[in-house]
Amino acid sequence: MNRVLLHVCCGNCACFPLEVLKEKGYSVTAFWYNPNIHPLSEYRKRMDAFLAFTDSQGIEAIRDESYSVREFIGNLGGELAFPKRCAACWALRLRETAKTAKERGFGSFTTTLLYSIYQDNGLIRKIGEETAGEYGLEFYYSDFRSGWQKGIDISKKLGLYRQNYCGCIFSEEERNLKHR
Ligand code: SF4
Repeated sequence: MNRVLLHVCCGNCACFPLEVLKEKGYSVTAFWYNPNIHPLSEYRKRMDAFLAFTDSQGIEAIRDESYSVREFIGNLGGELAFPKRCAACWALRLRETAKTAKERGFGSFTTTLLYSIYQDNGLIRKIGEETAGEYGLEFYYSDFRSGWQKGIDISKKLGLYRQNYCGCIFSEEERNLKHR
């Protein structure tokens, strides 16, 4: 059975992609690496939801808990406006996923970022494929957005924590200024 390392941005976004990957016959290991999430209390909430999800599905979970707001912001290279900052954020997380996949003997990796209807699916695919090429891996691409509602239904049924902003400090500010 083919093994795939699934980068998981949060438990909710993993529900539908996991179904697809299982249907395709993959053995899935979930990978947590999301230093973009701010503040730390929110990061921990989402990580707990990730663990609740992987436990409920009986799949292996690998966690990289490296966390530094300063490092994350430094990695954006001064490009803090939406949506330009997002490319660096995706690249950071996909690079770490590819690195871990390589170290642990996976032939391919993918990401739940491809499930989001709010993010640039095409650019995430491009970054994933380029990163995979650098590491000699396959980037499994599927437009997981097709299962947007199904994923929501599954996550609600599982009672997973559902956040209301993307993750970084900037997205939290943007979301709250918009809804003030
Ligand atoms: S809005 Fe989301 S994808 Fe974009 S930089 Fe912030 S956390 Fe990353």
